[in-house]
Amino acid sequence: MRIPPQHPRYHSLLQREKIVEAFKKGIVVPQGLIAHGRGECFDYLLGERTTPPAMKAIEAAAAALLLAKHPVISVNGNTAALVAKEVVELAKAAGAKIEVNLFYRTREREEAIAQLLRESGAEEVLGVGEDASATIPELFSERRRVSPRGIYIADVVLVPLEDGDRTEALRKMGKLVIAVDLNPLSRTARSANITIVDNVVRAMPLLLKKVNEFKTRSRIELEETLRRYDNEEVLREALMEIWRNIERHVREGLLIEFPK
Ligand code: ATP
Ligand code: MG
Repeated sequence: MRIPPQHPRYHSLLQREKIVEAFKKGIVVPQGLIAHGRGECFDYLLGERTTPPAMKAIEAAAAALLLAKHPVISVNGNTAALVAKEVVELAKAAGAKIEVNLFYRTREREEAIAQLLRESGAEEVLGVGEDASATIPELFSERRRVSPRGIYIADVVLVPLEDGDRTEALRKMGKLVIAVDLNPLSRTARSANITIVDNVVRAMPLLLKKVNEFKTRSRIELEETLRRYDNEEVLREALMEIWRNIERHVREGLLIEFPK
């Protein structure tokens, strides 16, 4: 379906189309459609923009990725559908590996996502088939299967659109977890080390830009950026953004005016 660019909900509808197209190709599962809808709701409440607390988290995430020994970007269906190209560019800029990790894992789906990532320029995609032979303790879903060359040995894992259980499991393994999640109240948001409360569509290009910008910084400067970062404060500020947005609507009135 072609969406007219002048439509007031153009960007949102375009994302929906991408998710639906990917669903038809077997990249996104039905549950992924629902997850996207939950994200849309929070995006609406945030004003569909990157907020100052999200920017703080993006800076800390860029520092963490550049300081990491084994950074890995974990990719699921929705992430691949929305930002495959950006994932590949970010992996190249940060020297990170890309790994497919799915809650609803089938060989066809893994392959379809890996294929899409390769078409987007990825040279290597971990976590497909036999490669996902290591196991994360304490996880019972198919997501516990990871690559021994990827997430299993990673010190920093970027998990856009993650599930709470897995974030907790990765934390328990001592990994630094960076999440992108529009819901500041989700278990993912609250258990990650760095939570970017933003749409993955806006967050990934900004993160790529920051990584490139921070490459000229010394390790000491990057460590300082990371040390100063406070995820609890950032989550509180993200909630306040939603709060203030609602307050503004209440103050300014809600009805759309029509000519008499
Ligand atoms: P958790 O498992 O962390 O407690 P949940 O079970 O409520 O969270 P899930 O269904 O596991 O949520 O995952 C969907 C999450 O992804 C939601 O929190 C939603 O806000 C978020 N999300 C969906 N689409 C996007 C997007 N495009 N960008 C950022 N976040 C998104
Ligand atoms: Mg969940």
